[in-house]
Amino acid sequence: MAAGIRNELLMNTSLINELAEVAKDSALMHGFLVRLNESLNSSEVVTYAPITLFPTPVPKSLFLQAMEVQTHYNTLVDKISQDPDFLQEALASTITVDDFTARLFKIHQQVLKEGLLQSIVVGLNRSDYMWEQEENGHTSLKQIEINTFSVGAGGIASRIPDVHRAVVMFLVAENEFNIVDQRIIEKELWKGNIATIRKRFEDISESGKLDENKRLFVDHQEVAVVYFRNGYMPHNYRSEKAWEARLMMECSLAVKCPDISTHLAGTKKVQQVLAKPGVLERFFPNQPQIVERVRATFAGLYTLDMGAEGDKAVAMALATPDRFVLKPQREGGGNNIYGQDIREVLGKVKYSPERMAYILMDKIQPVPTQNYLLRRGKPLKLSHCLSELGFFGTYVRRGKDMVMNDCVGYLMRTKSSEHSDSGSTVGVSFFDNPLLF
Ligand code: ADP
Ligand code: MG
Repeated sequence: MAAGIRNELLMNTSLINELAEVAKDSALMHGFLVRLNESLNSSEVVTYAPITLFPTPVPKSLFLQAMEVQTHYNTLVDKISQDPDFLQEALASTITVDDFTARLFKIHQQVLKEGLLQSIVVGLNRSDYMWEQEENGHTSLKQIEINTFSVGAGGIASRIPDVHRAVVMFLVAENEFNIVDQRIIEKELWKGNIATIRKRFEDISESGKLDENKRLFVDHQEVAVVYFRNGYMPHNYRSEKAWEARLMMECSLAVKCPDISTHLAGTKKVQQVLAKPGVLERFFPNQPQIVERVRATFAGLYTLDMGAEGDKAVAMALATPDRFVLKPQREGGGNNIYGQDIREVLGKVKYSPERMAYILMDKIQPVPTQNYLLRRGKPLKLSHCLSELGFFGTYVRRGKDMVMNDCVGYLMRTKSSEHSDSGSTVGVSFFDNPLLF
């Protein structure tokens, strides 16, 4: 759609109202649904998932660039997960001050001590990007982060041998907003005659056990694959028992999607360390073209470790906070710090090791677009929007052999520019589609 026609369309109020109703019904027809916030644990009443009315224009070259680099990101995450020395070094400062990452790291060490039983690794990543217009008019793709844990989409587990006599276990939360997303994956697995069960940490504590060969049984059923959809936030571990359940799963023969080392490879601290000169070369030795392609998508990332480099980053952030995002080692949205809040938070910890719990990142300045954002109960109005595009990558490794490594899809989300500093896409973002040009 040419820009002119699009702009004209955006102003045609009666047509917009009509199209909005069609779009909502279309979402219902396609089962594009979510539960209501006020009844997260029930499917009695559901609504359409938040969507943009129109797809958002995305330069085709950037789309292809992100798609192409995804398999390299898969390789990178997988290599990091097999490099305990690197993880130890990269996370050393973080784990002295961040208790959650420290606990995950402890599980990682314990698993290493006991020896890895399972040679099959299933990875499911999503690398998220925004794109910026540079001064020379050229548009460039910048990675926000890579998610290695609890990423939606699936179907890959069907490639794993032996699963027919066991089940795939979804490790889930108590209340699930994203139930439809998970049910779609369950349905695909059932289509392939693979049974699925849904369990919470509490269920594993109560009825999970390892046999003498470290096979994992839950309710007397052997679990072939644990697919984590919960466990990435500190409050997901409601008691010590939940941590014990995580350790039991990690030490078991079951294939984990992802395993603990892959989880740690997805931390923001690792993302920042990867941006340091020479680090990517460790994972892609003698492959300068791949290094260059991966590095081209990095935004500026700065350490806040104690020392001259960290001091410089602190000074920079305090002087021009609007240019940066301050990120703690958390996932799931709403944790990042922007603007004046950076002055406040960093001001307090600027001389203390507590600052090492964060990393500093250049704020990406995406090109805004206009669109209508549809959400239950929200009045229809033209909004200034910012978009981000995530690419799903999946791989299966058996021992040293990559059995598959693919880019398997994408996810486009758009939010109103009012929320550019909310640090979250949760609750403020709308599903969208890229319109390539
Ligand atoms: P989380 O693990 O909580 O998803 P992210 O790093 O993905 O953390 O940040 C959450 C959201 O904040 C992103 O989806 C994006 O909208 C915004 N954001 C994060 N980093 C940046 C950045 N460097 N520049 C601009 N926006 C950002
Ligand atoms: Mg994110």
